[in-house]
Amino acid sequence: MRNTRATQPLFELSKPGRRAMRMPAADVPDVPLAELLPESALAATPPELPELAEPDVVRHFTNLSTQNMSVDTHFYPLGSCTMKHNPKRNERLASLPGLLDLHPYQPQETLQGMLALLFELQELLGEIAGLPAVSLQPAAGAHGELASLLIAAAYFRDVDGKRTKVLAPDSAHGTNPASAAVAGFEPVTVKSTPQGFVDLVDLGAKLDNRAAVFMITNPNTLGMYDPNIKRIAEMVHAAGGLIYLDGANMNAILGISRPGDFGADMMHFNCHKTFSGPHGSGGPGAGPIAVSARLAPYLPTPLVERAGGGFRLGYDRPRSIGRVRSFFGNVGILVRAYCYIRTHGPDGLRRVSEHAVLNANYLLSRVKHIFPVPQGDRCMHEFVASAARLKTDKDISAMDIAKRLLDYGFHAPTVYFPPIVREALMIEPTETESKETLDAFAETLFRVTEEPADLLHEAPHTTPVSRPDEVRAARQPVMVWPRESSPDDGAGG
Ligand SMILES: *Cc1c(COP(=O)(O)O)cnc(C)c1O
Repeated sequence: MRNTRATQPLFELSKPGRRAMRMPAADVPDVPLAELLPESALAATPPELPELAEPDVVRHFTNLSTQNMSVDTHFYPLGSCTMKHNPKRNERLASLPGLLDLHPYQPQETLQGMLALLFELQELLGEIAGLPAVSLQPAAGAHGELASLLIAAAYFRDVDGKRTKVLAPDSAHGTNPASAAVAGFEPVTVKSTPQGFVDLVDLGAKLDNRAAVFMITNPNTLGMYDPNIKRIAEMVHAAGGLIYLDGANMNAILGISRPGDFGADMMHFNCHKTFSGPHGSGGPGAGPIAVSARLAPYLPTPLVERAGGGFRLGYDRPRSIGRVRSFFGNVGILVRAYCYIRTHGPDGLRRVSEHAVLNANYLLSRVKHIFPVPQGDRCMHEFVASAARLKTDKDISAMDIAKRLLDYGFHAPTVYFPPIVREALMIEPTETESKETLDAFAETLFRVTEEPADLLHEAPHTTPVSRPDEVRAARQPVMVWPRESSPDDGAGG
């Protein structure tokens, strides 16, 4: 039997005068929301909400928040993810009322400041990329990959319809082959050499007239700059293909090396990594893309364009792949990226990369005698160490080390990626960490390797959740709080 409470609207949106603001295109019908929904979509009983006093709720969530690790509380050397300091200045600027209180349905004449900022960001990213045309729309790196591959598909439909394959090295991030598949291509893996670079023989063998795109991460996920990058680009171009640069590691080469100059036809930026946007647990992000002049007509609409003395959203692009995200893209993160770039300026951005590379090399040199780095003594902004010897000698795995570090107040490095290194620990200190922090991290790594293996197998010992079955947690998530427990039982649900 239906409880009458369920049929009452929770918020009386329809009462004139009670709306917070009137929006031209938001058409709120003048009936209770429950009457708009089919009977089958309505709950039979109202939800059981806990009855708690505000202090209890505040304490519960405050305590929960202190159990998290974040860049604001802990060193966070998560390789590939670039968890660098999020400057508080960016937060302040992005919260200015003139930027924050805009509504995307406002007339464009009243959005000129924001459009000017976005236009300038397009230009700045194009300059950093060495590529002339930029779209700010994609919501993350993976989304930028997908948008770019849709552009490649549209381009090849116009020039050469046979190309159905997208190549990527075996060190690539999993999003590369996944984006290729989602865009309708057949993903093909290219081997790496023992040094971690693209195997030119294998690449040559796979570059036939069906190869559309070679996706390359440079510096790659091993933290190595491929010395053959120009040769690779020549090979791919000679075979009629395009080079896609996965720009997740741009924080190693800002102001030093430009993808457009080393042969990339298209690329994405991860604003939440390279340009310090706060992120974690899958968001929020912004993954703008930059492309060469011949691919520019296919960019998603709208682009921010100059118009008269001002700016507008330009939709008149007949060969565009269309829209890939609502409104202007993830504006909050784009504004922070703009502030970051403008705060540093060209010389400052170059120093960002120099310090990121210096910090990573310092840490590499401190830990390599215990954690060998198979790809060598030098790296860019990150490196991949191996715990394979510890595993054999002492039964201590990369996972054990990662978990034990949590007990000492360090976020774990990325483990078991890239898959071509056994017992991989992928460490990215970032440019904003002090020598003291790097030393403390190295000392803790050594200390952990001296501890009894049994202690490590059970780690972490200090966190509310120890070792969840991660695959099961992802595939069969428990989305409800257990009925018999109360919220103070901890993060068990
Ligand atoms: C992070 C990352 C991606 C994916 O980017 P998202 O912004 O997380 O979607 C792709 N490639 C590499 C090498 C990465 O590190």
